[in-house]
Amino acid sequence: MSKVKRHTKPFRIAILGPQGSGKGTQAELLARRHHVPHVSTGDIFRAHLKRQTKLGKKIARLLATGTLVPDAVVMAVVRDRLNRTDCKDGFVLDGFPRTIQQARFLSTLYDDAYLVVALELSDREAVIRLSGRRMAPDGTIYHVKYKPAPKALRARLIVREDDRPVVVKKRLRQYRTLTAPLIRWYEKRGMLVRIDGALSIPVVAKNVARQLLNRHST
Ligand code: AMP
Repeated sequence: MSKVKRHTKPFRIAILGPQGSGKGTQAELLARRHHVPHVSTGDIFRAHLKRQTKLGKKIARLLATGTLVPDAVVMAVVRDRLNRTDCKDGFVLDGFPRTIQQARFLSTLYDDAYLVVALELSDREAVIRLSGRRMAPDGTIYHVKYKPAPKALRARLIVREDDRPVVVKKRLRQYRTLTAPLIRWYEKRGMLVRIDGALSIPVVAKNVARQLLNRHST
């Protein structure tokens, strides 16, 4: 991919999409390309779980069952993370916001000065994709077909607890009822970019980059 010059205004992006839509992968690519941090609330929570912090213990059950962490808890974590100096030129948020209350909170923090990418994917495709998803010990996500792990790592890959079929179905239902309404909310505010998430990783990345650059420079 071509090099991207640094922006004069902060590059603030939030990526929405159902589980399996490639949010994490696209957020990582976009963040690297624009020299801003990739902020994944799921990764932050999993790190707490691994370190067995007070918060980690409190949310363990929610994470295992794919239940949303209460808004107040997530918003406090996000506020702390975005206040760090590495976010002053922007960030790519992955997994936040997930409810209207979280979206309102973000819009209050930044006065609507951010854009939202919605990666669209059917539930059917999401289930197929998630069944092939594997996690490395360091938290990196691979896919048996779309993003194979290096051979040396394959024996150590695990299925994330919340990628079990019964949990996946619950997470998708939750996405449709709680998170999908944000798409209309952002669309009405003129902050939304819709992207077909069913295409390949490089094609989605190219479409995201193209649409965002158009929007960001206006
Ligand atoms: P993810 O890796 O983004 O799918 O997040 C994993 C889990 O972390 C979710 O199933 C929730 O339990 C929790 N989580 C992550 N982000 C949020 C959020 N914005 N609001 C509530 N819970 C969240």
